[in-house]
Amino acid sequence: MRNEENRIIQQSTKAVWSGEKEYRAHGATQVPVVHSVAYSYDDLDHWYDVAVGREKGHIYGRNTNPTVESFEQKIRDLEGAEAATSFSTGMAAISNSLSTFLTPGDRIVSMNDTYGGTNKIFSEFLPRMDIDVRLCETGNHEEIEKEVRKGCKILYLETPTNPTVKITDLERMVRAAREVGAMVFVDNTFATPINQNPLEYGVDLVIHSATKFLGGHADALGGAVCGSRDLVEKIFHYREINGATMDPMSAYLLLRGMKTLHLRLKQSCDSAMTIAHYLKNHELVDDVFYPGLKDHPGHDIAASQMKQFGGMLSFSMKGGMEAVRDFLPKLQYANRAANLGSVETTVGPARTTSHVENTPEERAALGIPESLVRYSVGIEDPDDLIADLEAAFDSLKETTVSKE
Ligand SMILES: *Cc1c(COP(=O)(O)O)cnc(C)c1O
Repeated sequence: MRNEENRIIQQSTKAVWSGEKEYRAHGATQVPVVHSVAYSYDDLDHWYDVAVGREKGHIYGRNTNPTVESFEQKIRDLEGAEAATSFSTGMAAISNSLSTFLTPGDRIVSMNDTYGGTNKIFSEFLPRMDIDVRLCETGNHEEIEKEVRKGCKILYLETPTNPTVKITDLERMVRAAREVGAMVFVDNTFATPINQNPLEYGVDLVIHSATKFLGGHADALGGAVCGSRDLVEKIFHYREINGATMDPMSAYLLLRGMKTLHLRLKQSCDSAMTIAHYLKNHELVDDVFYPGLKDHPGHDIAASQMKQFGGMLSFSMKGGMEAVRDFLPKLQYANRAANLGSVETTVGPARTTSHVENTPEERAALGIPESLVRYSVGIEDPDDLIADLEAAFDSLKETTVSKE
């Protein structure tokens, strides 16, 4: 995005200003929440022209809404996309985008550790529609390339993944998809547009759960899809008819949250790096998953395609689920909740958060240890978070000692 003098506008400025001015009213400096479901027209010809899309305007809240459009413009500009549309949730963004393009007999290639809900769409719902779903080992680029070359309509990716933070090379995957004319969808929820812009690598559609880092305050659900005008219009049409519309109040809360996205993310990413190193050296920690660590298998790819390594990490504990059960309640500065990307640090075992829909056998097949703790780093002071972790680890040691 460039301004009138043709200067490139930075992400932080877009986070604050994109999608704002056009939707303000009465000289107010903030975008209003337009709760009205319908819009009134005295001139029937004008009404008709708006209804058929010949003139700008709004007809009915399931189709469009000014506050929601403002949200769509902000995420569109942050992803550097031609167009964006929005949804009631991230899962609605994913399911509507897939349903817009897939028809019975199609083939889709994806990977094992996509978000739990996405994985359910692949394993439960799409096969029922006679869609052939092929899930590859996450991070195994050769396997994905091989499956894509057999032909497919969509290559669906997520990077970094939930909860083991695995990385996939977007440029390489797009190259493979181009050979067979497949579309590439990327769930960019974990990275956010501040850390990664998949469209720059030739990806066709970028999908977000706005509920997480974009909103950042764990008080509004939402989803978004960004891409070319042609593709986004098709998805918008599917959504406006099927009705997974974003609520105007949510759009307002998400817009407000997005204005500080770059600042929140910088703090979370910096702290995550410090905390990952701390955990790596802790005797009660088995394994740490964070792409910022040099020994993480996706480190080099992450270093080249991401601007920061993200605010999400996970770790498995020695002592298994038993230790996790003792440890988590001791943390003072963490919500034990099925969420991530909020200003507050949020923790939870993968088996009760992202992958609660899966059986223990399925989780094992996905390479998710039962003692895996997902740690979404908030914007608190990192020293306070480390002190909090240290106190919880210390109390574990005490209980171990007193049991002996
Ligand atoms: C949470 C999440 C989703 C689903 O978003 P909702 O807003 O909860 O529907 C999809 N993908 C990823 C990576 C997520 O973390």
